[in-house]
Formats: sequence, C-alpha cells, structure tokens
Amino acid sequence: MNAPVQFLARLIADTPPLEQLVIVCGIAESLRIGAQPLVRGLDPASFAEMCAHCVPGVPLENGSVVDAGIDEFDELFELLMLYAEPCDKMSFWLAAVISTAAQRDNHLWQDMGLPSRKELSGILLKRFPRLAEANVRDMKWKKFFYRQLCQRAGVPICKSPNCADCTDYAYCFGPES
Ligand code: SF4
Repeated sequence: MNAPVQFLARLIADTPPLEQLVIVCGIAESLRIGAQPLVRGLDPASFAEMCAHCVPGVPLENGSVVDAGIDEFDELFELLMLYAEPCDKMSFWLAAVISTAAQRDNHLWQDMGLPSRKELSGILLKRFPRLAEANVRDMKWKKFFYRQLCQRAGVPICKSPNCADCTDYAYCFGPES
C-alpha cells in the first residue's frame, strides 16, 4: 500500500464524522481502482480545499476526464445540488464524490468504497434530505436516482407505469448488498 492509501485507511479506521468518512472513502476507492479523476466536477482550487478539509496532510492530485463518453455525472450532480441542505461547500463536495462514484458499475455504496449501505443512506438523509425521503419504498439508490432523472427529463425508461406491476421489480428493489 502506498503512503496516501495507508493514511486514508487509517483515517477511515478512526471513524471520522460522516461527511468526512464519505469523502475519504470515495477518494480511497478511486485510488484503489486507479480511476482518474479522483473526484469529478471540482476545479483545482475546490479539490485542494476539500482535501485540506477532509484529508489534511495527504498529497493528492485530481485527474482530468480524458473521455467520459456519455454518462450522467452532470445530471446527477445537478439533481443532488438541487436538494442540498445546507447548500454549502461540504454538500457540493459530497455531490461531486457521489456523482463520480455513481458512474461505476456496482451498487452505489460499493462504488463509493463505503463500509455498508447504511453510511450512504445516512449521508443522503443528512445532506440531501428531501431527495432521500422521496425514496419512500427504499429503492436501490442508483435506480432511484436514475428514475428521478428520467422523470425530470420526461423520458419513460420504466417497463411499467408503476413499480408493483413491473417485471423489473426485483432489479430495482432487491437487496443492495
Ligand atoms: S420496478 Fe419497474 S417501474 Fe419501478 S423503477 Fe424499476 S423499472 Fe421502473
């Protein structure tokens, strides 16, 4: 393990406040899978400020997007910020970390390197409460976000007008683990 990764692992083991834990885990997961950038959507000054606040003393450089192809980073980031409470720098950093991780292929809490789904639900309820509370049936978080985006865009991606009658029910609501 290299020095930044070791330091981040120690920080996580010390169970910092939830906001810091989520950001540290997101950065650590990006380093683990070697993806660049560590956090999308932040200019160099904002990335440096986030690191100074959440991972002080760790020399980290953000990468730049080489070719993201078509993805939903911007749309998800915008959705989260629409519901950020408070709408402060920390929520901005968290929205960037969550939206970066959401472009990967696993359950969102796994993509974020979190210990379990509990921390993801916790940070969404704490920082994006009205959005998180709209997930009244505890849909898988990625599915929930994408359903929100499709509804906002007026694009019908669902196979059924309601979830109860849908053949994809288990896909959207099954255990997220
Ligand atoms: S269960 Fe079906 S209707 Fe409900 S969100 Fe999933 S795909 Fe859409």
